[in-house]
This record gives sequence, C-alpha cells and structure tokens, in this order.
Amino acid sequence: MRDRELYQQILGLSHPWRVEDIRLSLSDRQVVVVAGCVPTESLTCPTCGRTCGRHDHRKRQWRHLDTCQLQTVIEAEVPRVNCPEHGVQQVAIPWAESGSRFTALFEAMVIAWLGEAPIKAVAELVGLTWDQVDGIQQRAIERGLARRAPQLIANLGIDETSYQKHHEYVSVITDRDRRVVLEVLEDRTKETVLTWLDTLDAAQLAAIETVSMDMWEAFINAFLERLPEADRKICFDRFHVAGYFGKAVDEVRIAEHKALRAAGSDLLTHTKHQWLKNSERTDNRSRVWFMELTRASLTTARAWAIKEQAGKLWDFTSRTWAEKGWRRLLGWMDRSRLAPIKKVANTIKTHLWGILNAVVTSTTNAIAESLNARIQKIKAMACGFRNRQRFRRAILFHLGGLDLMPAGVSYPTHTKA
Ligand SMILES: [Zn+2]
Repeated sequence: MRDRELYQQILGLSHPWRVEDIRLSLSDRQVVVVAGCVPTESLTCPTCGRTCGRHDHRKRQWRHLDTCQLQTVIEAEVPRVNCPEHGVQQVAIPWAESGSRFTALFEAMVIAWLGEAPIKAVAELVGLTWDQVDGIQQRAIERGLARRAPQLIANLGIDETSYQKHHEYVSVITDRDRRVVLEVLEDRTKETVLTWLDTLDAAQLAAIETVSMDMWEAFINAFLERLPEADRKICFDRFHVAGYFGKAVDEVRIAEHKALRAAGSDLLTHTKHQWLKNSERTDNRSRVWFMELTRASLTTARAWAIKEQAGKLWDFTSRTWAEKGWRRLLGWMDRSRLAPIKKVANTIKTHLWGILNAVVTSTTNAIAESLNARIQKIKAMACGFRNRQRFRRAILFHLGGLDLMPAGVSYPTHTKA
C-alpha cells in the first residue's frame, strides 16, 4: 500500500488516475506500475472535448524514467470513448503524448541527452534502439517546427555547407538576429531557394532588410526574382570578397616566386602566409623584414597593397563615398597589369552593388559562418549522415532554436553543439 502511494507521488498521478498495482521483477531489474482510471469518471473525446460514453479499453505501456535504478514502465488500461462526431478514440492521458510509447518525462530526458551526444550513444545509455531514439528526436523537431509561429525576419543569411566530403552541398538559411537556423535546403540551386522563398508571405518578404550571402549566382538570382528591392538588400560577405583578393595575391606570388627561383633568388621563400595575413589584425612591428619586403619592387607587393586597400573599404556609412573608394580601387586594379587581380576586378565590378549594400549596412555573414562551424561539429559528432533529411533534422534539432520538449514538461535543455 505504501509503495502505491510512493509511486503515485513519483509519477505525479492525480485524479482520475491512480496507481492500482506494482509488479516488481528484480531479475529483469524492472518495475511495472499499473495505473488505472477511476471507473465512475466521465470521459471526454480528445479531439472535441465532448463528454462521451466509455466504449472499451486497451492495455498500453510507456517507458518512464528509471526509479530506484530499475527500468520503470507504466501500464494502464486506457479507456476509449465513442464520440458521435470523431468515432472511437483513446482518451488523453496526462503522462504521455498520444501515440508515444514513452512518458513525456522520459522523452524529455532523451531530448536533453541528444543535445550532448549522438543518437547511437544515447540509445546505448537508455537501453533503446537507434530507431526509437531517432523517433523521439523526429517528434521533438516536428513539435518544435509546429510551435514556431510565422516570424518577421529582418536580417537573413544564406550559406552553403558541405553535406558529404565531395562537393555535395546543402543551403542553410539563418536568422542573423536570433542566431538560429531557419531551414536547411537540400541543394544550392535557384529553384530550391525559390521554393523556400514562396513559403514566405508578403509581410514576411517586406520585413526582410538584408540578406547576407556569398557571390553564388543561384542565391543571388533567386532573391532578385522574389524579394522586392533585392538589389538594395542583398549583401555580399566581406570575408568572401577578401577571399578573392587573397587567392589573387597568392597566384601572383606563386608565379613570381617561380621566376625568382629560376633566377637564383629565394626572396619569396616561406613568405606565403605573411602576404595573406590581415595586417589590421597583425602587429607590424614584429614584421620588420616583411614590411621591407612590401616596399621592394615585387609584383607580389603590388598585389598585396591592392588587397590591403580593399580591406580598408568596408567602414563607409555613405554609399556615395563607399562607391568612390571602390571605383578608385577598381581603376588601380585595372591598371595593375596583374592578370589574377584584373580577374578579381571584373568580379567586383559586376557585384559592386551588393558589396556597397554590405558596406553601408555593416552586414557580414559571420553569424552564418559561426553556425556553419557548429554544423560541421554536429556532422563530426554523428560521423556523417545517411541522407540529407537526417542532416537537416540534426541541424534543426541543435541550431533551430526550437521548443522541443513535450507539452507540460520542463526539463533542463541543452541546444549547444
Ligand atoms: Zn469528438
């Protein structure tokens, strides 16, 4: 009798539910708590709430949190009602969501563990199969997505991230203000991005102020086609632009180094990283020899000076002055007689509008990049994913900012990856 009261309290059962029996099996290290519904209780349809007559009952079991180091299972004869409108249905039970074979608290524990460890490890820890834990995670994500109200997002980011080793990509759409992943698209084509944009209503489209991205034509064209005034809102990421300059400097250095070596000079040996460093972040006093090198009559030094100048053109607040600065640099690049630099100049020219948008709004894709780094960690933790749907789910689970827990359960949550 005392045991029943104890379990009644541990499980938090209240009227009309009560603990009717406890079956202990020490050999299986399991305790089955048999719960029952007071027979005189009037029952309601779970869909409409109408009071209905009892139809029959079904025996069901739910795995619960362990108690006293014993695997704990709740068993109950769950009444079914016959609603004139909704037919025969099982009544709602307070400890589990309908259709689940686990109590809400047990699911909450698994969800909390999944924030820290991959499915396989959690399955071993709680004694479930991989598919069972995967099912709990899937339900959590569906629950979270269903709860996510349509939001107005002012600052979007879109970025590709590698799904497999060999140039297979998905596109990740982020809310840069809330620092969460909104959606993971299965590839990086224009059509797929358009399909996502079509899920936004007019108010959501109108609310978008900036979209940060790299210069991927499919992304650019999709947003130009759907987002009103996109030519003022698309912002090309400065670190991506800097990447073009770095690559050009390196190409110039490689060619010059080769020519110098052929002529017997080691002037450029072991200098690669010095040319690529961001000098605003590097203490130049420790680089006396390098600063001398930059003043030598080297084509690499000319390309480097252009790269350095480009790095200084991101702090304008006036579009007019920003454009003047960039156009002056483009003139310099055109006259440089350095093929890799001229090639970058052409890319910049056709994308200058989006660079200027980024400059005057101080927009970067840094949030998306940092989420991307966490996505790669999730990938490493899971040792890869069998398909894109699984990859998407894991990203949304960890980085979607979703409310994942079953209703009515508060459990310490961890969403860091
Ligand atoms: Zn009903």
